[in-house]
Amino acid sequence: MTDPSYRLPRQVVPRHYRLRMEPDLDTATFAGSEVVTLDVAEATDRVELNAAELQIDQARFVRGNARAHAEVEYDEERQRAILQVSEPLSAGRWEFHCRFTGILNDQLRGFYLSTFDDDDGTRQVIATTQFEATDARRAFPCWDEPDFKASFGVTLVVPEDLMAVSNGAEIERESLGDGRVAITFADTIVMSTYLVAFVVGPFEATPPIDVNGVPLRIVAPRGKMRLTGFALECSRFCLEYLATYYGIPYPGDKVDMVAIPDFAFGAMENLGCITYRESALLVDDELATSAEKMRILDVIGHELAHMWFGDLVTMKWWNGIWLNEAFATFMEMKATDAFRPGWKRWLEFAAAERPWAFKTDELAGTRPVEFEVRSPAQAEGMFDGITYGKGSAVLRMMEQYVGEEPFRAGVESYLRRHAYGNTETRDLWESLDGSSGRPVGEIMDTWILQGGYPQLTVRAEEGGVSLEQGRFLLIADPSDTSTWKVPVRLRGMAGGDPFETSVLVEGSRVTVPLGGSVDWVIANAGGHGFYRTRYDEPLMQALVDRLNLLDPVERFVLVDDAWTFVEAGRSGVSGFVSLASAFRDEQEQAVWGSLLGAIASIGHHLVTASTRPRYERWVAGLLAPLADQLGWAPAAAETDLVRRLPGRGWGGGAPCPPPPPAAGGGGAPAAEETDLVRRLRGRVIDSLGRLANLPEVVEQARSIHERRVAKPTSVDPEVAGAVISVCAAHGDAETYETFLDRYQTVSNPQESLKYLRALASFDAEDAVDRTFELIVDRTVRNQDTSWVLARMLANRTTGPYAWSKLRDRLDGILEIVPPMTQSRIADGFPALSHPEVAADVTDFLAENPLPHAAKAVEQKLERLSALVKMRQRETGAIAGALPE
Ligand SMILES: [Zn+2]
Repeated sequence: MTDPSYRLPRQVVPRHYRLRMEPDLDTATFAGSEVVTLDVAEATDRVELNAAELQIDQARFVRGNARAHAEVEYDEERQRAILQVSEPLSAGRWEFHCRFTGILNDQLRGFYLSTFDDDDGTRQVIATTQFEATDARRAFPCWDEPDFKASFGVTLVVPEDLMAVSNGAEIERESLGDGRVAITFADTIVMSTYLVAFVVGPFEATPPIDVNGVPLRIVAPRGKMRLTGFALECSRFCLEYLATYYGIPYPGDKVDMVAIPDFAFGAMENLGCITYRESALLVDDELATSAEKMRILDVIGHELAHMWFGDLVTMKWWNGIWLNEAFATFMEMKATDAFRPGWKRWLEFAAAERPWAFKTDELAGTRPVEFEVRSPAQAEGMFDGITYGKGSAVLRMMEQYVGEEPFRAGVESYLRRHAYGNTETRDLWESLDGSSGRPVGEIMDTWILQGGYPQLTVRAEEGGVSLEQGRFLLIADPSDTSTWKVPVRLRGMAGGDPFETSVLVEGSRVTVPLGGSVDWVIANAGGHGFYRTRYDEPLMQALVDRLNLLDPVERFVLVDDAWTFVEAGRSGVSGFVSLASAFRDEQEQAVWGSLLGAIASIGHHLVTASTRPRYERWVAGLLAPLADQLGWAPAAAETDLVRRLPGRGWGGGAPCPPPPPAAGGGGAPAAEETDLVRRLRGRVIDSLGRLANLPEVVEQARSIHERRVAKPTSVDPEVAGAVISVCAAHGDAETYETFLDRYQTVSNPQESLKYLRALASFDAEDAVDRTFELIVDRTVRNQDTSWVLARMLANRTTGPYAWSKLRDRLDGILEIVPPMTQSRIADGFPALSHPEVAADVTDFLAENPLPHAAKAVEQKLERLSALVKMRQRETGAIAGALPE
């Protein structure tokens, strides 16, 4: 199954590491020593282990009085140290002793440096680790494969004024008399090397709170304690929720959640020492949008879910990483939904994570969720939308199919059976088969081991409906005959009676009797199925006429599927324009998110200078009822701002009526608005300003932004997010400099991120030049470079210019971008759908591949070619589709 040349020999197995690490933050180097207790299965004079960019000295094997010296050779390509032992080691238990030195790099992997400016503007330095997938070997010599589980006893030698955190609780502290202190941490449980962590720097921690006997703290760079409250609240809830769900106590002895200023991923589930990108942990509760807070809650839930699923029970090899990540993503939704039901997390899941997976999985260049992983580089490529999005979506589909409690019980039995061990995917299916009495493994194999997903075509038949499945591809391939075992939930009305039923579609076509002729049917009831649904014309019309009978998630699915059929050339854009008009009374922000996403795509790919005025009027008209209803601020808010948004009868270009007094929109103050209504307001303002380009909205956005700079809490956070985005889209050089100053000076990571996002969204070539400068001179942290580039490429007007800049300086840019974030650059490619630009992108990348993102580039270029076709097909049609 796996290429043996990438796997270490198995005759020597580590059991315990005693590690002592001495980082020198000034010289960006470290020294260390280790004593590894080993079991030697058969006598050998050659031992292989992993090491990269390490110098190993004084290597020897010790057993009682026996000593065997070892010569070290390095195999750089396979990142190994080969120890030639002076006399063969006999079978049995040995200790391996060595000293080693290495560098604290700036590549956000292994043992690396991160920096931040404190409140006095002084540059502060942190040394921290990121080992997943295969970078523990950059910090200490080790058997760096997930099934070489061992316990770890860590000592960190650090300057007295710095704080040090590792996986275990601190148990001993010894002053060395030279300004340094040796801090020893309790031994960990047996676990994989990729979960070990050390963090050293000028940190502070919240006082520990007790969660069922587990001390929990938030650790942050000095000066940021005021941003830790929300994370603490979320962590306490999730830790309790998860222990209850799993039916198993937390496996470590403490939990520290550590915010790191430079971090490649969102967070990392090191047992007991979870590291986070700052913006995924620290937040100012008063200034943050609900989406920003939800992201923090999500990430915390996700990482804590890993403490059991991933840390306590671990995949045998990297081909199983999908299950680790998919399951943690699934659990993050459950925890978030339990903590904040008002955020409707599963609806948001259908609207965000599922489409993320669809967008890759509808390409010929997709991959199966689980595939053979041989080299570490291939493991790198698994952290994508297929692993997180599709993996968690099919788990959710399965949970809904077998029932929530049987599913939970299967998970608990799996964790109990394999605690402290390693597993293959089928071990989970066995537990779920047992707990549910259904063939979970058989069904899941069709979703996990083959790429792609089905379209279900629904037709009215005599006394029921027929369901036909076939692979959905953005660029159709009639020769593809893949099928899936599809759990389908149907809901609707037949012969005048309501029905709700489930069916497992296995062949290419089934007929489902419904006891009468069908009045209407929704064939992905609850929206949990990982497939698209295509209705025959009368059934589709029946749904459009009854939108009020559908759940929000079902309405979302209807819109999302309809737009995808336009992208794929199965329907024309005019049909979508009239469908969108049927949603004028829609109130659910996630449904509007989908509508506005499609409408933005129309504006980006299909609308030309001559059709843009009509497009803008159409968008403004579509949003008019909501604009009237929501205004510029929550009804209950104490504000002197004008509440009234341009609404009905404005249609863009209409003369500006005098603003009504504050607290407009109906007189009496309304009840407290939900977070999702507030979020919807943000979407509406953003779309009126950036898609409809209403001058009065732009002007008002500028004035609100000025007020907010003067007094941040004076503006609702959702409105604030929207006005920043609108100001950037219509901003000049002066606005750019103001935003840059905000980006650099605000100490709150969410605020800083809002402005960085905005800096990458100006519609001017000068701004693109400036942002490139900021990347090259490292004003933009390299953790953010990839997505900033993608955002510039995705700009409708300046994207092609940004592409030409990127193309001309790609080599220099790639030196800055951390390798594991490279694939995110490719997210910007599909936006470049002008045929001549697209051809240039494709040709250039064929000659100049992104070395760490081959698969992602292949996929995004396939999507790009589909969007070029859509542009060519539908640009003419849009003129006739938009109302006059
Ligand atoms: Zn994860």
